[in-house]
Amino acid sequence: MSDTGSLLSHLECTYCGNVISSDEIVRLCPKNGCEKVLFPRYRIEEKETRKIFDSLKHRDPNMWRYKEFMPVKDDNNIVSLGEGFTPVLKSERLAHHLGIKNLLIKDESLNPTASFKARGISSAVSKAKEFGIRKFSIPSAGNAGGALAAYCAKAGAEAYVFMPEDAPNANKLETFYHGAHLELVNGFINDAGRKSAELSKEKDLFDVSTLKEPYRVEGKKTMGYEIAEQCNWNLPDYIVYPTGGGTGIIGIWKAFQELQDAGMIDSNLPKMICVQATGCSPVVDAYFAGERHAKEFLSPKSIAAGMRVPVAIGDYLIIDAIKESNGTGIKISDEQMIEGVKKMANLEGIFCAPEGGAIVSATESLVNDGVIESDDTVLLLNTGSAFKYLDSLNS
Ligand SMILES: *Cc1c(COP(=O)(O)O)cnc(C)c1O
Repeated sequence: MSDTGSLLSHLECTYCGNVISSDEIVRLCPKNGCEKVLFPRYRIEEKETRKIFDSLKHRDPNMWRYKEFMPVKDDNNIVSLGEGFTPVLKSERLAHHLGIKNLLIKDESLNPTASFKARGISSAVSKAKEFGIRKFSIPSAGNAGGALAAYCAKAGAEAYVFMPEDAPNANKLETFYHGAHLELVNGFINDAGRKSAELSKEKDLFDVSTLKEPYRVEGKKTMGYEIAEQCNWNLPDYIVYPTGGGTGIIGIWKAFQELQDAGMIDSNLPKMICVQATGCSPVVDAYFAGERHAKEFLSPKSIAAGMRVPVAIGDYLIIDAIKESNGTGIKISDEQMIEGVKKMANLEGIFCAPEGGAIVSATESLVNDGVIESDDTVLLLNTGSAFKYLDSLNS
């Protein structure tokens, strides 16, 4: 074994506080009737962790540079295609158009498989490898399934991917070419979730649904570590994030708590802006209704497949992050998303996914409404590439 130096200590339920050993294979909180999201916790002490952050500049530019804060214990178990450490680009032309001075774009479309889903899947597949797990299943709106197929190809593991019939063609093709079993489901991602759970039981597969196992979020949280490192440990005022299942926004918020514990950032944290589609906005609606849990959104509809998630098990964690950060939620229509894609493409040279277009339009609205002020620093997370969505951008 070649030790990663992981500081992983235990798993903790984000809902009831139950503590479980991280040596056990678990998915959700096993305490009677709880079944909520488990978070890996680490032994983070300022004195010890300082050395780690001082040595970062000698490390490879991928998300495993933070391996002490990742769950994998043996280097040999890391399944990597080079994910992470995507650039934070300084925007000038889009910033000028929006009327703000400091706009940054973290371009996650440059990840393997062309979306930030690579991070979570790399982390989950690596940790599962540590447990000897070789067979996976996943329900996916598109990008997560493609990513699982790719990482399982790299690991020599088996993947079963369940996608809605109307998932982007690119995601179906990549899943197929990476050699995974692809099943198209007549319905939405939650229907795919049921199928995935059923087959997992039947065939003894490990189901890596969003936030229903503890380790995908650890890959996504590295976006928060990177934003901090790439901004020289001075965080932006706003982070604008296109939200579906919420692992990204939840992971980034978790990262900021850990970096505070490590003494790397102060308590001045970014306001988190949760962007959802007008045609599928369960969490934003719940936030504005003052609820901590969202109702299932009926007949969800949006070209942004990654945001078409009618029920999210981590709803309360997304809403907590919005509230704790003094952020807000906002809904964006498909037409506004396309407008946003055009602006990012035209003014910044980035051909982003509709999810990326949504955050451009969201920022524009928030600036026009006076929520974001002209000298605030705003960071947009472009989560994916337009090349995955050619079928819906084809007009
Ligand atoms: C999955 C996905 C999202 C939503 O991400 P969550 O972290 O699940 O909220 C946004 N954009 C793209 C391109 C995605 O694939």
